[in-house]
Amino acid sequence: MGKIRVAVAGAKGRMGREAVKMILDDEALAFVRGIDRTENGVDVGEAIGIGTIGVTFSNAIEDVLLKDKPDVLIDLTHPDAGKRHTRLALEYGVRPVVGTTGWTPQEIADVDKLSRDRHIGAVIAPNFAIGAVLMMKFAQTAAKYMPHVEIIEMHHDQKLDAPSGTAMKTAELIAQNRRELKQGHPNEVEQLEGARGGYYDGLRVHSVRLPGLVAHQQVLFGGPGQTLTLRHDSLDRQSFMPGVNLAVKKVMQLGHLVYGLEHLLDD
Ligand code: NAP
Repeated sequence: MGKIRVAVAGAKGRMGREAVKMILDDEALAFVRGIDRTENGVDVGEAIGIGTIGVTFSNAIEDVLLKDKPDVLIDLTHPDAGKRHTRLALEYGVRPVVGTTGWTPQEIADVDKLSRDRHIGAVIAPNFAIGAVLMMKFAQTAAKYMPHVEIIEMHHDQKLDAPSGTAMKTAELIAQNRRELKQGHPNEVEQLEGARGGYYDGLRVHSVRLPGLVAHQQVLFGGPGQTLTLRHDSLDRQSFMPGVNLAVKKVMQLGHLVYGLEHLLDD
């Protein structure tokens, strides 16, 4: 079998440059183009400080999809751009593997429909870190026995969407395993707007944004006389790359959208 040809949108970003290095380190993958909104014709390796690699940037995604014909487009950009790139990739017959967050359930359903209509795979994963996926699974199990729960997610201060895709996905999984529950005192009053966090099916989600953080989440469960805390920390963006690598390989076999890395892992 030939190499899987991969283009990366957002290749100059913090996640994108890790994705480029991951592709270059894997003999089963071939890096064909970096996509950026400004850079055009510049060597990607030079731009990201790893030396000349002989693969250039393009600022025209449709040209890349049409002329370079990658098998897979990895998107690690910005919520608006990521949605546009994902749709365009599927329209041009290129499988999107998307780490860009900020998707609504309707937008995810629309990608799945387009993917099925075109008979090609797509992956959107709010968190490509295996430890985070395990945290979500454990949280879903715990919610069955300890239904009082709150989520605190903490990210670097350049993140645009809140709450994080991981927190939303964790809340969805928890909601599948418990009935909607009004938590806290029935007459509680917020003295400061937003103090109790965002509301999702009875549970609260709190978003912290600070320089110095990467991506962290705690899921706190409380019951009479006990608490349980699940915590995951991504300390470096390398933590996401084994998951991105797995998705690039698995998406080649799919004919629909897979939303969430957990669905690509063998039990
Ligand atoms: P970042 O460092 O800001 O990088 C984003 C990159 O995308 C930049 O190079 C930016 O270029 C580029 N970009 C923005 N709009 C673009 C467009 N229209 N066309 C082409 N490129 C465009 O951010 P990051 O930390 O790498 O994160 C990127 C995305 O991944 C975010 O959505 C983040 O939430 C998500 N993320 C996902 C995971 C996961 O596991 N799923 C983990 C971490 C982060 P400029 O410099 O010109 O703006």
